[in-house]
Amino acid sequence: MRLVIIANRLPLKASRENNEYSFSKSEGGLATGLDSLNLDLEKIWIGWPGIDVKYEEDKKLITNRLREYNFHPVFLSKRQIHEFYEGYSNSKLWPLCHYFYALVKYDNKHWNAYKEVNSLFLSKAAEVIRKDDIIWVQDYHLMLLPQMIRELRVGVSIGYFHHIPFPSYELFRVLPERADILKGLLGCDLIGFHTHEYMRHFISASERVLDLSYSLDKVWTDNREVYVDTYPMGINYQKFNDAILDPNIQRLAEELRLNYIDKKLILSVDRLDYSKGIINRLKGYASFLKNNPEYHGKISLTMIIVPSRDTVESYADLKTKVDQTIGAINGQYSKINWTPVNYFYHSFSFEELVAMYYVADIALVTPLRDGMNLVAKEYVASKRDLSGVLILSEMAGASIELMDAILINPNEIQEIEDSILKAIKMPEEEKVKSMKRMQAVVSRQTIEKWAGDFITELTTIGSRNKELNKKMLYPQKENIIKSRYEKADSRLILLDYDGTLMAFKSRPEDAYPDEYLLGLLTRLSEDKKNNVVISSGRDHNTLEQWFGRLNIGLAAEHGAFYKENGEWVENVHKETWDEEILEIFRKVSDKTPRSSLEIKETALVWHFRKVDPWLAAMRSQQLVNALIAPCTRHNLHIVKGNKIIEVKYPDCTKGSEVNRLLALKSYDFIMAIGDDTTDEDMFNALPPGSVSIKIGNMSEAANFNMLKQTDVTTFLERLMA
Ligand code: UDP
Repeated sequence: MRLVIIANRLPLKASRENNEYSFSKSEGGLATGLDSLNLDLEKIWIGWPGIDVKYEEDKKLITNRLREYNFHPVFLSKRQIHEFYEGYSNSKLWPLCHYFYALVKYDNKHWNAYKEVNSLFLSKAAEVIRKDDIIWVQDYHLMLLPQMIRELRVGVSIGYFHHIPFPSYELFRVLPERADILKGLLGCDLIGFHTHEYMRHFISASERVLDLSYSLDKVWTDNREVYVDTYPMGINYQKFNDAILDPNIQRLAEELRLNYIDKKLILSVDRLDYSKGIINRLKGYASFLKNNPEYHGKISLTMIIVPSRDTVESYADLKTKVDQTIGAINGQYSKINWTPVNYFYHSFSFEELVAMYYVADIALVTPLRDGMNLVAKEYVASKRDLSGVLILSEMAGASIELMDAILINPNEIQEIEDSILKAIKMPEEEKVKSMKRMQAVVSRQTIEKWAGDFITELTTIGSRNKELNKKMLYPQKENIIKSRYEKADSRLILLDYDGTLMAFKSRPEDAYPDEYLLGLLTRLSEDKKNNVVISSGRDHNTLEQWFGRLNIGLAAEHGAFYKENGEWVENVHKETWDEEILEIFRKVSDKTPRSSLEIKETALVWHFRKVDPWLAAMRSQQLVNALIAPCTRHNLHIVKGNKIIEVKYPDCTKGSEVNRLLALKSYDFIMAIGDDTTDEDMFNALPPGSVSIKIGNMSEAANFNMLKQTDVTTFLERLMA
């Protein structure tokens, strides 16, 4: 099997000097992490090679060179890099997901470029992907891609991992393109996040923006199960833990230690990014120096800042600010033989970095927001001798796992200052104990395990979805139904109304049939062989008003009323509604904006289609709890339907209506179409050999599935054609 990883960047980036191209490793957690992945699958990458290439022959040359590694480049123009990468991805999505709301830039050009580049990735994917591949899309640059691939290759397994935080709905909702982004992601079989908090935020955003129903970790959409789960990304633990055994790294570490022989070394490593809390870290350190003069000359902060996105305005501004702040600290406190901050604005080799980790007494990791933060894990893993203290921001995803670090809120400068003192003074045995515990976590949750867990789960869900997909009503299967329809002399066609013949509207009264639908039903019923029956939960007056003129059967309130030979018949023994039950409904309805109460002769229905999902779930529970006792006393049923809670008389269901119809006449073709839980009763009551079609979500009882409500009328048209 092949794993196709699609990420913004390939693990190698190209650079050009004197008209010659050379390739080096890309920086950043994702590229480093995934590159060291050792899975038992053929790995293929699709991504940007990190350079703007003008000429076609150069593109060909790079493509051929990269293909040797199974890397397939997607070339982006200067404009696309500016508008898609620096623009939409890094000036809108990145600040938004990291809660830097004020830095979000709105520009419609950027959104267009985002769509355009996602399509470019799709074109490359179309060339590369085979039917049985597993597709793993990475990160926020490509959130539209899963759905695009889904439309291109229907049965393929698609996963997505979100490497940065997913913000709370309150923040996510400010994104004008929020619905498109979520729909793009829901093209997946599996969506992964580092922590359960990001997962929770994603689910709540989808529920609210797209009005989808979730059950804990899965959502039903377009006839597939989309799973959402957490997979905290890890590192290649052994590589970091064993590094110090390498004589070269040992030599580097010894040289480094000599430089800090009588000093505590605090290390920080990050890309230049406002989310990393670099300024707060410097402020905390400056405050420590101010209040602890006895440590002057005995402590040193070594800051490695890897250049990143310096063409984005907010990053260039940050660089200036970092330079100034470091300059001010060094200017104020430096001595002839001591510089409080050693600052490096470039990247280091693995050997240098790991030697630095090994020697550092303290790692100071202070992001204001960070999806995971691999540096914290790398520091822990590198401490083969169990020395060292990790100070870690609780705003980093890694803090969920590394609870034995000194956890701080980096927004509070005092906490940073205090944590430095605490780390310096921590007794040896406590350091060893914490480090051991953290190593136990990091050594278990490795990058292999992260990817392995994700891929295994994705494969399982993918196969299940393929299985479910078999029920899908594709044209071929339609033909089988059509030929049976044509051969039959006596047909019963049972149709649900809301969500089947007509789409849901915010207000139920607005979902009336249009001329087209009435025409279609007329034509269907004109065929003498057809007995067309609309079986609905609507009240009989409404059905009469809408369909009374047509020559079709009608069943209202789930069979409590039916129309036969032009007359409505009441099919249930009912009483006037109990005042206590009515009052319970009224109270919930009044307390819940955008909800409404429908009082029918045989059912009371509380509608909450437009209510916030969290509020709706709470009120539904309250309503059901309050209804149980009085409904038991009055022998009434409480039913949870599609965005409704209903109390009804027990003797009538859509199933009892089927039984009544079948007792009157025999048919050689029976077909029922519906979308709701109440339609399951109808499907269950059908005799073997009947055609039952469920719209939208899967159904145990129905033998076919139709993707969307709008497919119903076209299907009926084709049946009659
Ligand atoms: N890193 C690197 N070269 C350096 C400094 C850091 O390759 O000079 C790597 C580091 O080892 C880590 C990654 O950059 O794997 C940073 O990942 P992290 O999750 O901490 O932050 P991100 O850059 O993904 O926001």
